[in-house]
Amino acid sequence: MKKNYLFTPGPTMVPPEVSLAEAQPMIHHRTPQFSQIFYELSEDLKYLFQTKTGEVYTLMSSGTGAMEACVANVLSKGDKALVITSGKFGERWVELCKCFGIETEVVSVEYGKGVEPSRVEEILKKNSEIKVVFATQSETSTGALHDIKAISQIVKKYSALIVVDAITGIGVHKFLMDEWNVDVAVTGSQKGCMLPPGLAFVCVNSGAWEAVEKGDLPRYYWDFRKMRKNLKNKTTPFTPAVSLVMAMKTAMEMIKKEGIENVWARHERLANATREGVKALGLELFAGNSSSNVLTAIKAPEGVDVDKIIKKLRDETGVTFTGGQDSLKGKMIRIGHMGYVNDFDIILAISALEKGLHEAGYPVELGKGITRVQSLLVKGR
Ligand SMILES: *Cc1c(COP(=O)(O)O)cnc(C)c1O
Repeated sequence: MKKNYLFTPGPTMVPPEVSLAEAQPMIHHRTPQFSQIFYELSEDLKYLFQTKTGEVYTLMSSGTGAMEACVANVLSKGDKALVITSGKFGERWVELCKCFGIETEVVSVEYGKGVEPSRVEEILKKNSEIKVVFATQSETSTGALHDIKAISQIVKKYSALIVVDAITGIGVHKFLMDEWNVDVAVTGSQKGCMLPPGLAFVCVNSGAWEAVEKGDLPRYYWDFRKMRKNLKNKTTPFTPAVSLVMAMKTAMEMIKKEGIENVWARHERLANATREGVKALGLELFAGNSSSNVLTAIKAPEGVDVDKIIKKLRDETGVTFTGGQDSLKGKMIRIGHMGYVNDFDIILAISALEKGLHEAGYPVELGKGITRVQSLLVKGR
């Protein structure tokens, strides 16, 4: 019998409570019943982003739709932007800007590393016309973490806006929208939020509104002004994904019950145990000291076809890891551990990794990884 475990960097595993909430009978969206749910969810989402001054809009799209909405709303024709890239997702901001005719400066960071904040300052110092800085909290393609607090501090010295792709940051890593002075941040439903794919959330803080109001880039469906106006009436501009909204309400209840600080701490503990388990097997981490708590990216050992291992594990046992994307294909195994993941899931993931490597003929001492994980998780209490 095969049992499915998604240790992927999105979509992630969905708690049964959330799936059941999604299966509730359909209700019409222009009703007091839906408005109440939507209003409560929008308030709960402020807690997720840790904001009191900002508002959170629910978008009916995957994360990239929300990223596009940010570009369309905060920039104007002729504006210049700065993008920090260190992998596929940072590069997406560059592509989106290009699509809207926005000229970009790029701080390109080696894959697997977080940015040195002083590099952002160097460029801002030389380019006073930069209006917006785009950053990524957790670069899911490499497993590297960027220090958003430090980056934001610099951006604010130069009076620019900071827009953060926190799609795998929110609900995993500490993220303090107000305290860190972040102007706009986005996340998606299928990562730390424990939902199926299909929703994205954009938090727009007070400092971004001047730019949004005077923006002149084309926007119709993705117009923050329409979203703000409708949220005042506890609704959305267009038909929302009602079932996913109901599911997200349940997911937020679970997050509130655990407490966001505990959620961050759990991810840190599980990520640390995973990294140590991997190292105990003699494997190397791709992002080294820059590793985020979202996933563990393991460097493919010399001469080992990791994609074959991943495929075999997925098809024969139902345990799903992912490989590298694009230029990183064949170079890594990524084990996602965000959202609905606990101690025993990590033990399971590492035991599957041991099995996969062993069956591929790579010399691992069976049980060495899980022994290390178990010792850390038991001791960590
Ligand atoms: C998953 C992810 C995205 C893209 O989100 P989609 O939901 O696939 O559109 C963007 N940025 C990061 C950091 C991600 O992990």
